[in-house]
Amino acid sequence: MSKVAIVTGGTRGIGHAISVALKNAGYKVAANYAGNDAAAAQFKAETGIHVYKWDVGNFDACKAGIEAVVAELGPVDVVVNNAGITRDAMLHKMTPEQWNSVIATDLTSVFNMSRLVIDSMRERTFGRIINITSINGQKGQMGQTNYSAAKAGLIGFTKALAQEGANKGITVNCIAPGYINTEMVAAVPQPVLDKIIASIPVGRLGTAEEIARAVLFLAADEAGFITGSTMTVNGGQYITG
Ligand code: NDP
Repeated sequence: MSKVAIVTGGTRGIGHAISVALKNAGYKVAANYAGNDAAAAQFKAETGIHVYKWDVGNFDACKAGIEAVVAELGPVDVVVNNAGITRDAMLHKMTPEQWNSVIATDLTSVFNMSRLVIDSMRERTFGRIINITSINGQKGQMGQTNYSAAKAGLIGFTKALAQEGANKGITVNCIAPGYINTEMVAAVPQPVLDKIIASIPVGRLGTAEEIARAVLFLAADEAGFITGSTMTVNGGQYITG
């Protein structure tokens, strides 16, 4: 029987590619999004993938959203915690709102989603939780104390939950993309982008499909021995041990 996968932020950018790749691999996919109804409607029309609108930073909204997915598609086997935002500013200019919104959307969301699927995964002794962190959570990035903290937090969360889930067939891993050619990166000013590309040994931005490929690998039944890891997909820009 087809496995059920939820992709948060699954209607645009990297999430769009992940949703499509999982669907093409035979999963029943639920693509979550926050508020861009036009993009979600276009995505649904193009792909035929179910879309669900809720704020991943809100526990009660996640609960209602997951209940709707389970009612329509069945119990959740795979969660790809992909939704994320940036609200960049140097710390001396950062507002509490910029800090709190990034922590809620990029980090607390992963607690919310994982907490709400973990009981069912433990009962069914299978689960795949895949958290999309970032190169900037691994190395830190000027102007992104909020984002770097949230994304580094995901790596610690992943290592801890991996240990809790290991004897229940649940794997928990991170994927750390480098700079990927999405709207998030298109917002970076061109001179800054040129410098970033010059610092990537592969000589180009990554593609969303390259991240989706890593997700498929970790989601597979055959990936059951890989847990607590961070898979770096960054064109060699930052090589970690
Ligand atoms: P995009 O901005 O292109 O897409 C973000 C998606 O997340 C959208 O579907 C958006 O929904 C959704 N989203 C945002 N906030 C919420 C929320 N509160 N609740 C539910 N959904 C939400 O982002 P990318 O594809 O570029 O990034 C995807 C992930 O990859 C992020 O976690 C990002 O940090 C990470 N990443 C990206 C890199 C890059 O180079 N692009 C590099 C490293 C990591 P809506 O359409 O409704 O706005």
